[in-house]
Amino acid sequence: MYSGGLDSSHMLLRLGRRPQRACALTVQGLDYGVDAGKSFNSLKKKIEPFLEHLNYDQVVVRTNATAITASGRHSYALRLMGAASILSGVFEEGHFAADCTHAQDMLTFPFGLNHITNKYFETDDIVLRPLEEDVTRSEKVALVATEPIALNAISFCPDRSVAPYNCGQCEKCVRTKMMFMVETGAIPPIFVDTSFNAHTLDTLKLDDSKVALFLLRHISGRALRVFWTGCLDSKRDLLVNLPQDQKRKD
Ligand SMILES: [Zn+2]
Repeated sequence: MYSGGLDSSHMLLRLGRRPQRACALTVQGLDYGVDAGKSFNSLKKKIEPFLEHLNYDQVVVRTNATAITASGRHSYALRLMGAASILSGVFEEGHFAADCTHAQDMLTFPFGLNHITNKYFETDDIVLRPLEEDVTRSEKVALVATEPIALNAISFCPDRSVAPYNCGQCEKCVRTKMMFMVETGAIPPIFVDTSFNAHTLDTLKLDDSKVALFLLRHISGRALRVFWTGCLDSKRDLLVNLPQDQKRKD
């Protein structure tokens, strides 16, 4: 199962180039709406070199299950399994990238993909097995950043107006930008907006469990100290340029 996102891109990289032609299944009707023809076609073109590099055929299942019976994040597993079942006459087993680590499950449960329900993706005809079940998003960023062809393929921004590109301004993009900075020391040109300053940080929801986990994991890291120092410098610069009454308010 391959969406073009960070999780599944990392999974394919870890699996490496397949010795025989393999199948990468992308579902239209999950991240992309069933009618999102133009942007979904752009996604297919964007991920094509990466899949070819790893010796995969690109296969698409298009489904309107979200609209008619299975909306909401708790139905994500059902939609994933349903799409795989369509190919059960061809395959007995498939793989998908786990979304959260065990620690993240503790905070995001009952998110639709978790270590409990991941074990139940099985019918008489086909089984879907989770991979990379204890790898954090930051660790995934670190690996993907080493492979330019993977980096050019990934698409994770939920803003469909820029899809399949990454806006660089939404909460998910900003969070991922932070991870690139911490893991690699730089923000790669995979974002429409590659800037990062004090205003960018305003996008982050510090009470969001995923952001909190990221900060907890890296709070003692040298890279994060450098990062926060940079942010504080930005804030200080802003403060210097503000009128006196606004300084007091901030
Ligand atoms: Zn975005």
